[in-house]
Amino acid sequence: MPELPEVETTCRGIAPTLTGATVQGVIVRQPQLRWPVPPQLAANLAGRCVRSVSRRAKYLLLDFDHGTLIMHLGMSGSLRFVAPSLAPEKHDHVDIVLADTVLRYRDPRRFGAILWQQGPALAHPLLAELGPEPLGDDFGGEALYAAIRRRSSAIKQVIMDNHVVVGVGNIYANESLFHAGIHPARAANALTLPECRRLAGEIKAVLARAIVAGGSTLRDFVDAVGKPGYFQQNYMVYGRRDLPCHACGSLIRELRQGQRSSCFCPHCQPC
Ligand code: ZN
Repeated sequence: MPELPEVETTCRGIAPTLTGATVQGVIVRQPQLRWPVPPQLAANLAGRCVRSVSRRAKYLLLDFDHGTLIMHLGMSGSLRFVAPSLAPEKHDHVDIVLADTVLRYRDPRRFGAILWQQGPALAHPLLAELGPEPLGDDFGGEALYAAIRRRSSAIKQVIMDNHVVVGVGNIYANESLFHAGIHPARAANALTLPECRRLAGEIKAVLARAIVAGGSTLRDFVDAVGKPGYFQQNYMVYGRRDLPCHACGSLIRELRQGQRSSCFCPHCQPC
């Protein structure tokens, strides 16, 4: 699924074209996404100018004078610019039509969302309770340490909790724990402040590297200008069960946590 780096890549890809552009119309072919696309969306946006494009967690925010269009790519969504003459394909559910191009939303599994928020975007119920951005200045070792003092569940699950920090999906949780030398099953509140500093630093580093690489992992992710954003990154532990650790040669092990698999090196990440 699109993880935070893919959403950030999408945001950077679509922002230059959208910012300052006037919406000519909106074509909704399939309104049944995770939640219904608002029926008044076309009337609401026609003739309106996009003020700015930003990202909060995995939500894309298209800011207008009278509110914000909130978009989420769900499990399989993508956005790209296409020529107005290009016929839509089966899963192309929504077009945002500009003067000379179309922003086309494709989502085969339809777990994504396109919503309208009239007031301040960040007051929307989906956004209001979110924790800090991992790459922002208000997330770091001290903040992480403070947020997990009363959390006795496994650190891997805690850093994937959007109330603690947003946008740390399974791949990046696995990888940052490896780089920090922390076993994924350790109790969160057993981590020391130096460990939290190391972990927060590695979360920032792995996400920043993935953004540089242009996003990763999703086979059908397409970036905003139509190039495949799929980028095969070299992971240290993710997806490497029974393969030798790149650092020490021990065999990578896997365990189940919740519904997710965690890969770790038993030598580099002692329990
Ligand atoms: Zn190792």
